[in-house]
Amino acid sequence: MGRELVFRNPGEDSKNDRIEALIAEIVKRLGDAKIAVLDPSKDGPEDDSAELKAAQAESKETVELAKVPDCQSQPAQPKNLQGLDDQKRALDLWLGTWGTIPRWNKGAEINFAAYSGGYDKSDDAVYAARQLNRAALYWNSLKVGVTFKWVGRLADAEFVLGYGGDQGNTVARAFFPNANDLNNLFVYKRAFDADTKPVMWRFFLHELGHVLGLRHEFARIEGGAVHWGPDDPLSVMNYRPEAPMVTAQDIALTQAFYNYTKADIDGVPVQVFVPNN
Ligand SMILES: [Zn+2]
Repeated sequence: MGRELVFRNPGEDSKNDRIEALIAEIVKRLGDAKIAVLDPSKDGPEDDSAELKAAQAESKETVELAKVPDCQSQPAQPKNLQGLDDQKRALDLWLGTWGTIPRWNKGAEINFAAYSGGYDKSDDAVYAARQLNRAALYWNSLKVGVTFKWVGRLADAEFVLGYGGDQGNTVARAFFPNANDLNNLFVYKRAFDADTKPVMWRFFLHELGHVLGLRHEFARIEGGAVHWGPDDPLSVMNYRPEAPMVTAQDIALTQAFYNYTKADIDGVPVQVFVPNN
């Protein structure tokens, strides 16, 4: 068993130059407003610890949803496979994306930004960013091995929150650990419905689970994924008729995942990425 593979973007040092050039091009074509991001010192909560306390209090509430929403971070199950047992009992923690298990380096700080424009209503941008920040503070408090931080410059971010419009019943779409300069985390119109908007941050808990490398749903059928720990139907990675919440088992298994140092899990190679903030 060799050392884990660590992937570092070869152009890491020049990321700022690349992003600045990209921003300049977008500004030239579309204007400043399209690329503007929120400033956490102005648009964020006054007190992160008070924000976390509020989240912790809300985390104990069971909130029923009008309809179970979808998450797009993984492709939908093929129609010909629907009806299998796995679909009915979406599972616990799965790791890996089609042949590898991507993860950040332990101790990584993953920066995110949030676009200020593009939403249906002007205050939706701040609302969504604050909800994402609340989810980030909550994950940070669980000490799983990686932390998230809201930043006010696109060039300093590993990912950026943006509005993706109407995608039917889908609330959000995240990404898995990778070497990209900048990733997108989308929030969709469904997340602003009456049943989901008040608990939007709990859907971001699920999406940040993907950002940490956790999968869900049809991992068993798609292959290339490994089962990590026992079944947990209440896992945050399982969309249910209630707003998602991180379970004690999610915490323990995610900590174990980030403490795992071998090169593979059940023969599937672990890829370690350094955030390209
Ligand atoms: Zn998902």
